[in-house]
Amino acid sequence: MVLGLGGMMPMPGRFLTAVTLRHRGQITLFDCGEGTQVPLKSSGFGIGRLSRFVLSHLHADHLTGVPGMLMLLAQAEPDHDVQIIGLPEVNRYVRTTRRILHFYLSYDLHYSNLDPAGGSWRGDGFTLHYRLLDHTAPTLGFAYEEDARPGRFYVERAQELGVAEGPLWGRLQRGETVSVRGAKVRPEQVLGEPRRGRKFVYITDTAPCENIMELLRGADLAVIEGMFAEEHAAEAAEKKHLTARQAAEFVRDSGCARALLGHVSPRYKNNELAVLEDEARGVCDRVSLAQPLQRYEIVLPD
Ligand SMILES: [Zn+2]
Ligand SMILES: [Zn+2]
Repeated sequence: MVLGLGGMMPMPGRFLTAVTLRHRGQITLFDCGEGTQVPLKSSGFGIGRLSRFVLSHLHADHLTGVPGMLMLLAQAEPDHDVQIIGLPEVNRYVRTTRRILHFYLSYDLHYSNLDPAGGSWRGDGFTLHYRLLDHTAPTLGFAYEEDARPGRFYVERAQELGVAEGPLWGRLQRGETVSVRGAKVRPEQVLGEPRRGRKFVYITDTAPCENIMELLRGADLAVIEGMFAEEHAAEAAEKKHLTARQAAEFVRDSGCARALLGHVSPRYKNNELAVLEDEARGVCDRVSLAQPLQRYEIVLPD
């Protein structure tokens, strides 16, 4: 769910860009600017399920909501630890604020320092890939990739090999070799090719760069900044942001299945945002403007 689609500052009727991703009962929050706890409260997501913060860069519109969110989460008394995942300077901001404000937390906080050169962070049932983008401060873009699922189970083949329905089927599906009347049956004899997991991508605050393409390739859903209209392309280049049209070009060329534009400039009023969407859709009709608080489901590809 996109909690807000604003860039730079929260405004009446427009919260800052932040995204919740729910997977395996846990919520990952991508960025947390000032005021993000307000749309999160309206979202219907249980705040107590918030398990990790993934933070793109050290600019206020992506970070200053973190202390309040941590305090809000303490009230929900989660029964799990919470991860702060970002560049070392981003984690230092959170750690220092925590120390200075000296607020109480009812859970353990862990920090994962990401390498600015890019890499992968292993989670429960997924991998978070991250790459450096091209912005006025070091900024990471992210691809949250669900683990591959076992291939389809072919019942007829199992029966032909003499494996009767029961616990042996489950073991084969989990990738174990089983024996039936002295003969070995290997999982690949009864399973199809592993099926890929789903992929969500979060990219904001960047000039066009190759790593955008790398992250977007094969994504099922992306939230990508489309901060400016073409009319203000020079400003986008100077401040190292994407225009809506540039974002759409990346979506088109990467084969990303669906993308939502976010991080729009405060210079555009809500009734002017259609221009950004129109310019993007002129390039690729798989792009639309993010609708705050609408749930977007990523269905399993097969
Ligand atoms: Zn920003
Ligand atoms: Zn920024």
